[in-house]
Amino acid sequence: MSKNYKLTIGLEVHAELKTNTKMFCDSKNDPDETESNKNVCPICMGHPGTLPVINKKAVEYVCRVGSALGGSIADFTEFDRKNYFYPDIPKGYQISQYKYPLVSGGRLDGVDVTRVHLEEDTARSSHRGEESYVDFNRAGIALMELVTEPVIHSAEQAGSFARELQLLIRTLGVSDANLDKGEMRIEANISISKTEEFGTKVEVKNLNSFRSVERAIAYEFIRQEKVLESGGTVDQETRGWDEGKQETFSQRIKEGAAEYRYFPEPDLPKLMLSEIPELNEKFLKDNLPELPWEKRERYQKLGIKEQDVLDLVASLERGVFFDEVIEYLKDEKKIQRAVNYLTSDIAGYYNEHSDLVEFEILTAKSFASLIEMVCAGKVSSRGAKDILQILLKEGGDPEKIAEEKSLFQVEDEGALKKVAIEIISENGNVVTEYKSGKEASLQFLIGQGMKKTKGAANPEALKKAILAEIR
Ligand code: ADP
Ligand code: MG
Repeated sequence: MSKNYKLTIGLEVHAELKTNTKMFCDSKNDPDETESNKNVCPICMGHPGTLPVINKKAVEYVCRVGSALGGSIADFTEFDRKNYFYPDIPKGYQISQYKYPLVSGGRLDGVDVTRVHLEEDTARSSHRGEESYVDFNRAGIALMELVTEPVIHSAEQAGSFARELQLLIRTLGVSDANLDKGEMRIEANISISKTEEFGTKVEVKNLNSFRSVERAIAYEFIRQEKVLESGGTVDQETRGWDEGKQETFSQRIKEGAAEYRYFPEPDLPKLMLSEIPELNEKFLKDNLPELPWEKRERYQKLGIKEQDVLDLVASLERGVFFDEVIEYLKDEKKIQRAVNYLTSDIAGYYNEHSDLVEFEILTAKSFASLIEMVCAGKVSSRGAKDILQILLKEGGDPEKIAEEKSLFQVEDEGALKKVAIEIISENGNVVTEYKSGKEASLQFLIGQGMKKTKGAANPEALKKAILAEIR
């Protein structure tokens, strides 16, 4: 029932940075801490009279992201107080950045980035019955916020951008960016309009997976369309995503930026980034690792099929593993064989066992030697698949496994000669047919030989042995 409305989306993405200590104090940043209020100090608990100190690593991490996005790194930057009252921010304000963000501009996956800035995370509140709890382990953790321009026009494009950003953040080593752990949080601003002018935007929060990002956008598109078509107006509000019901619900009518009464944080120094050697634009650029799109280009040049390239690079671990495998194999045919196993058998195995850490048990070295074995005809493709399953489950040496499971193909000339003589004497008429020009007869003889060896013979070597005897 599309009524020709154009969908417009801008994303706001937060990522908890992987620094050892918090943004403005030396309390530990440990996302795995299970005991409440363990990693805290007077600064991150917001006690009056305490003074924050800027975590240089956090500044560096955000600049690294900015550099990878091709954004411009601020020459002058400062922090601001964003004032609001809530139990998870007992100072009464969050230290964030407003007028002078660390990074302005940039582009990722075809989407223009407005800015990337740094702020502190809030405490985590939880509610049990009548009681509410606040855990300050998370309070003050360095949080990167990236804001895109309203230039995304479909749910899929939003999902694709968010996935690419996660991959980039992981590649740069600045955050583990797991959505389910809240290390990466996505908010989608969504509006629809029939004219060039944007419609009223709705901000959707609690999107805990890429799927929910896509589904919430698709849901909002339809909801807003219904509102407008029935003569109503879309309220500018914050909505939550109900994963169970697969729908958005109203949380609160949005407050304007002015109500935060932003002003420069007087307790922190202003920063002149160009004067800090590690934050110099050139230094940052020169020290970037290979970026996902660069990796894709390199794989493409290796002659790997487009879909395979996308699959290989989609996970950081898979890309790292594959690079190690390439180092061992070096040959295009062998590499393509490795790609096939990676994107089918191996990807399938890790899909089924999603609790496993990928490429922890299977090593690049053993996988590469398995590829060598199958390419050299020492094991059949069937046998290789069986060995691979063992390597995935238990690890080990593929040669030894082949030995133990009798999966080596028989290539021994003497043994194959014996088999050839036997089948020739048992199938005299077929041999005659072959000699009179019936090519298919040779296939039949090879088949007989495979049967006799219970599939252990190397078909190519067996063919040679048969031909040698017929001649
Ligand atoms: P606010 O001041 O309400 O936070 P911003 O201008 O900072 O709004 O924009 C926040 C996010 O919303 C950005 O990602 C931006 O691209 C997006 N956005 C702004 N206007 C619209 C709109 N009309 N439709 C969709 N997204 C929008
Ligand atoms: Mg905003």
